Amino acid sequence: MLLLINRLLGVAFPHQRENLSSCFFLSSAGCRLAARHVLCINYVCNKITSRIKPDQIAALREAEGEEILFLFQVNEKLKKLIKG
Ligand code: SF4
Repeated sequence: MLLLINRLLGVAFPHQRENLSSCFFLSSAGCRLAARHVLCINYVCNKITSRIKPDQIAALREAEGEEILFLFQVNEKLKKLIKG
């Protein structure tokens, strides 16, 4: 379903992995996906958390929540459309 949402959003999938030791969707410019898995949305590494202020982290978490809610709603609508 997530891949379908990405295709509907116009994401072109790579033909091969850019970095053999990393995620299939990772490019030199970052993640290729417009709609990402919840784990990908929520994950913030220490490099980021150690460099930005707590209030900025809070804003980031709020944006993550909105992204997850939107993704859930799109997912539910698509499931209904597919089932008919
Ligand atoms: S955010 Fe997720 S899907 Fe995107 S490159 Fe990273 S691990 Fe892969």
